[in-house]
Amino acid sequence: MIDTHAHLDLEDFDHDRETLFTTMRAHGITNAIIPGISETQWCKQIAIAAEFNCYYALGIHPWYVPNNIDDSLTLLERKIIEHKDNARFVALGECGLDKLKPHFPMQLELLSGQLTMSVRFHLPVILHAVKCHQQLIELLIRNPNPRGGVIHGFYGGPELAKRYIDLGYKLGIGGLLMNPNAKKLRKTITEIDIKHFLIETDSPSMTPYNALEKRNTPLHLPKFVSEIAYLQKKTTVSILERLNKNASQLFEL
Ligand SMILES: [Zn+2]
Repeated sequence: MIDTHAHLDLEDFDHDRETLFTTMRAHGITNAIIPGISETQWCKQIAIAAEFNCYYALGIHPWYVPNNIDDSLTLLERKIIEHKDNARFVALGECGLDKLKPHFPMQLELLSGQLTMSVRFHLPVILHAVKCHQQLIELLIRNPNPRGGVIHGFYGGPELAKRYIDLGYKLGIGGLLMNPNAKKLRKTITEIDIKHFLIETDSPSMTPYNALEKRNTPLHLPKFVSEIAYLQKKTTVSILERLNKNASQLFEL
């Protein structure tokens, strides 16, 4: 299985990254997509993706709005051109909007520039969306992307899910599904066709409910697959096959 969203380049993994990758692969977690967060992290991120033969995306996260958006978008464009023929480079992101963080008008400008770029370079997008769904949906309508993308860490109900699906986006399902109080999300997983989902951990954050270790890792993925199978009343094997197919199709893995 593939963790479609794991920040394995962050320093939380510096002391045991090699052991983690070995353990992941021993447990059938064959690969991960490492999303980009800011220009200061791209170099390390790309080096780690190369060292561990992982997929990666390049982008600027809304938590790291740069001082000069135009300059940073130019740098991103150059990086994408440099990497566009690398088979492990699979998407633009992580980009998006977060109402709980500052500089919302700048977040909008930054996202808008990245959406335009994703269309120009024929890349799917990895989107971070917190309490901003109306604005995000309006932007996605204005920037139709034939390759689509994923609303990562999706937490909404079936109605919101359908709005994104109608625009050609998949929903990234992570550790929140293990929380019995996440009723909207669990309803979405129960009711929506499996073909619209991806699985992810968002490691090292978003540690699942009741996990013993505070740091999240891709090793939690098999539990998520079992839980999705339970909610969808299907076998774990069939769910896993479909989730792998979804990731391969979206990111052309
Ligand atoms: Zn992320």
